[in-house]
Formats: sequence, structure tokens, C-alpha cells
Amino acid sequence: MKRVLITGAAGFLGSHLCDRFIKDGYHVIAMDNLITGRLKNIEHLFAHPHFEFYHHDVSKFIHVPGQLDYILHFASPASPIDYLKIPIQTLKVGSLGIHNCLGLAKAKGARLMIASTSEVYGDPSVHPQPESYWGNVNPVGPRGVYDEAKRFQEAITMAYHTYHGLETRIVRIFNTYGPRMRLNDGRVLPAFIGQALRGEDLTIFGDGSQTRSFCYVDDLIEGIVRLLHSDCADPVNIGNPDEITIGQFAEEIIALTGTSQKVIYKDLPVDDPKQRQPEISKARALLGWEPQVDRKEGLKRTYAYFKSLSEEELRQTDHNNFDQYITK
Ligand code: UDP
Repeated sequence: MKRVLITGAAGFLGSHLCDRFIKDGYHVIAMDNLITGRLKNIEHLFAHPHFEFYHHDVSKFIHVPGQLDYILHFASPASPIDYLKIPIQTLKVGSLGIHNCLGLAKAKGARLMIASTSEVYGDPSVHPQPESYWGNVNPVGPRGVYDEAKRFQEAITMAYHTYHGLETRIVRIFNTYGPRMRLNDGRVLPAFIGQALRGEDLTIFGDGSQTRSFCYVDDLIEGIVRLLHSDCADPVNIGNPDEITIGQFAEEIIALTGTSQKVIYKDLPVDDPKQRQPEISKARALLGWEPQVDRKEGLKRTYAYFKSLSEEELRQTDHNNFDQYITK
């Protein structure tokens, strides 16, 4: 039986990866420090004989007994609000955390995949963004702690690949949505749906003309699994190229939820990218992958998840007591 370590396993993407690898017959070792992850996302797996959970911070030394075939490093805060609250942890998990994972992968002879991001392209001046674009990132802006950690993570992963011959994979993940997103992480989809469900106005940042391209989580996970099993060590974009303005997206959420609330406008956050769309010809050619779930269907499934949350969960604006966990 193949054994996989997933860091950030209690997070949005990590928990979907746990489900997928359990379904595919792997032994899953899930690791999370629960700063932004939630046990609720994986508690349905606790009784499974091939699922283990380690409550551990990957930025500290990691010890995992036994053989490991794969390591997927998905631990990281991943929303602008989180970077502002926990900037040092964001930098640490993308530097010390990946270094620990690489050392472990080398010791075990495991193949390692890192979760990189479209944020490595910053506020892009090339559109759509191919893997060959080097990006336009402000290292000292509020997003710098995330963007630069992810860029460093790519660099150190590639260095272990070329210098130590480690088998590595780099997935550049574009905006992804689906069940188990954290309602209060500040991302646009949980923000809008949460506002609609609580009967609040929808907050558009800026004039709403900025664009994003949203990928449904099941499509992303399929792309990740295919890339993991491919022989490509270079970065590969995985995302849905169906681009939309945030203003149009708000209209879609209003239609989906039937809310009678209106849209209100707030300041655009610093360095908020004006446009984003993945160029996915590499994933198409290399992995035979492309998204299958359109936004209408994906939003329907996601809305069903948020509607199933309790009134208390819906009202919770800050479920994580960050200070409790953080050592600066
Ligand atoms: N956004 C918005 N209202 C919100 C939250 C986000 O208009 O309540 C905007 C945000 O400024 C950005 C886009 O939606 O332009 C996507 O934001 P998100 O944080 O989801 O992802 P990212 O900016 O990292 O792509």
C-alpha cells in the first residue's frame, strides 16, 4: 500500500486531497497545525483504518515513521486576510516548512509535490498567464509574504530536484472554490455567499472590473493527481480559464442565492491583481486535463454546502483564535 503525507490536510484543498487518496487506496498521513485548517473538514476520515492525523506545525522538524511514497506540501495560509493576520507564519511555512518536507522526501526517497500559486505571477502584465511568464510581484506589499514564500518554495524545490535528483512536482493553482472553503477567510466566494445567507450587502472591492477565473475543486484535485503521476518537474498551471469580472460574479451570486441585498463598493486592497486567467495548454497536452465542471454547476454544489452550515457557523466571523497558536 502506498503511503502519502499531506501537509495542510485540514484545509480546503488538503481535506479534498485526503478524500481522494483514501478513495484511491492509499494510506494517508494528514498533518496540520490547525491555524487556518479545521478538523471538521477531515473528521469523517478519523475512523478509517488507513488515515492518521498529526497535529503538528510543518515549519518545525517533522518526523514520520515508516515508508513514504509521496509528500504533498499544501500547508499555508491562502487568503489576503490571513496573510495580514499571520504574515510570519505564511513566510515560515513556505520556507522552513518546505525545507523540512524536502529533507523528509530525500530521506524517504519520496516524490514531493508543492502547492504553488498564480500569485507567483503577481499583478500580471501578460494575459492569460503561461508558465513561462516570470511575474510582476511586489515583495514588500501585503501579498509579498505569500507570493515570495511561494516563489522561494518553487526555487528550493527545483534546487533539490536538480542537485539531489529528488522527484518533484510544482502545481500553480489558480482561484479554486468548492465545499469546505472557510466562510470567514475573506475570499470573494465565501464572502459573497456568507453575506447573502446572513442578509448583508455584498462587498465589491474597487469598481468590480478586476477579473478572476474560478476552478471547481474536483477539477483541481484531478489535475493535481494527474500531475503527481506525470514525469514533469517543471511548473504546471491548473485552473479554469473561464474568466469573469468580480462585478459579474456578484450578479451571479445574487441570482444563485435569490438575495434581495444590494452590492456596496469598498476600497480595492493594495496590489490586488487586475486580471487573472490561467493559460492551460501545457496541462491539456501533458496531462490530458481540462476542467469539466462549469461555474453554474460548481456554484450550485458550493451553495448547497454553505446552506447546510448551522446558523452559528454562519455568524462566526473569526472562528480561529490565531493568537492561541502563534509563536512569533
Ligand atoms: N473581493 C471583493 N469582495 C470581497 C472579497 C474579495 O470584491 O468581499 C475581490 C478581491 O479584491 C479580488 C477578488 O475579489 O479582486 C478575488 O479575491 P480573493 O481574495 O478571493 O482572491 P485573490 O485576490 O487572491 O485572487
